[in-house]
Amino acid sequence: MGNDGGSIPKRRELVREAARLPTASELKATALESLTHAWTTCPLSDAPLDLSNTVSDWRGRLYNYESVLQCLMPSSSETAIPEAQEAEFARTGIKSLKDVVKLNITTRKDEKGRQFAACPVSMKELGAATKGVYVVPCGHVFAEVAMKEISGTEKQCPECSATFEERDVIPILSTDEAELEKLAKRVDELKTLGLAHNLKKEKAAGKKKRKAGEEKEKGPNGEPEKGKESNKTSKGKEDKKDISSRINNPMTASLTAKVLAEQEERSKRRKVIDGYKKSEAVR
Ligand SMILES: [Zn+2]
Repeated sequence: MGNDGGSIPKRRELVREAARLPTASELKATALESLTHAWTTCPLSDAPLDLSNTVSDWRGRLYNYESVLQCLMPSSSETAIPEAQEAEFARTGIKSLKDVVKLNITTRKDEKGRQFAACPVSMKELGAATKGVYVVPCGHVFAEVAMKEISGTEKQCPECSATFEERDVIPILSTDEAELEKLAKRVDELKTLGLAHNLKKEKAAGKKKRKAGEEKEKGPNGEPEKGKESNKTSKGKEDKKDISSRINNPMTASLTAKVLAEQEERSKRRKVIDGYKKSEAVR
């Protein structure tokens, strides 16, 4: 009854099609595509990445600063975050502004007016074709190749002359397993030193050390802060000074202020508890 089955694919054929592995060039194309996507899109908001307002975490992922701020805002605030964004943010592991570094990205434009990130040394476009790195804490971004030549001898940021350690050169959007492992090890080591990804003190515990004059806090652009004066300013105030001074967008600035206020509030609470414990111990 016309049931000749001629056009119905047999199971064997279906399985063969599904099991076909992508070719090497297909895999490469997909990898490049997702890398280009990651260089141009904020994973939290799905909005185009604003290269003048980009932050990065310990593993070199890129986010719009504003998106991170919004996610860090206490949930009771008027700006509600979509659930998907919240879930994505939870996966990043970002808990405070110390877990990200504001990037200083050199941008260029092509003939069509498309803006892209470029290495200020080699002028090459950074992205899928040329791997970028950034320096902590100053956040200047370079091509990895250009940085390798420099970091071998001097270890000074070519843009701001801040000195840095080899470990604080963070590859951007690396897909290299060994490299990611190294980055994970770096934050673990920093944590044991009481430092966050941006090399700021993680907790108030570090303050005692500073009073003893052992620590030299780095300023926003890597230069050491002015000794005694900075000892008097509280942790939260330092953060505010560092970050707010680099923000020109009023919307971002007000968000930052709110997030920092929240962070300060939290650290105050911690100090009260610490102080209570101490007074208990004295008695
Ligand atoms: Zn720099």
